[in-house]
Amino acid sequence: MRQIVFASNNSHKLRELREILGEGFEVLGLADIGCHDDIPETAETFEGNALLKARFVKEHYGYDCFADDSGLEVDALGGAPGIYSARYAGGEGHDSAANNARLLRELDGITDRRARFRTAIALLIGDDAPRYFNGSVEGTILTEEHGAGGFGYDPLFQPLGWDKTFAEATPEEKNAVSHRGRAVRELASYLESL
Ligand code: IMP
Repeated sequence: MRQIVFASNNSHKLRELREILGEGFEVLGLADIGCHDDIPETAETFEGNALLKARFVKEHYGYDCFADDSGLEVDALGGAPGIYSARYAGGEGHDSAANNARLLRELDGITDRRARFRTAIALLIGDDAPRYFNGSVEGTILTEEHGAGGFGYDPLFQPLGWDKTFAEATPEEKNAVSHRGRAVRELASYLESL
């Protein structure tokens, strides 16, 4: 079985990847290879940040590797929070309540509430040039939070054609249409074709 590193410490994402990829690959997380470094994410695009993470692992640990980077783009905010989605409200980031509160403040009184989630995955295999796999899902930012599932901006994001938010969906419903689900399935079908 081929080993490949997913440059993530998120156990939920790792489990999801292992389920989708099935038998052909052993997917290792950062902890599995003893990587506890603070990997820089200083690029200006999702693709750039995903590549920085994958390249860090490949260069320092020698494994074939892929990494992902995601975020929310809001049209009326010129694409913000974008690559700053995790730390939109400042500080170390990952304070979803504060991020959602800031998003609602920024959109106060604005009627164009179109937005999308985007994921980019960068894959480095052997000496090949990097390959990218992208996924996105279009939707609308509501004026108040709905639902308790999911994470991040999910309680405010209603996908196009839905009458509920990602935070009101089951994980299966979300994965079927989500940015990450789409990018991961593209990656999986490429890896299976190798
Ligand atoms: P990451 O690159 O997947 O860690 O995502 C960065 C940030 O984007 C997260 O901390 C969230 O704020 C936001 N985000 C990404 N994907 C989702 C999602 O599926 N739902 C809600 N928020 C998300």
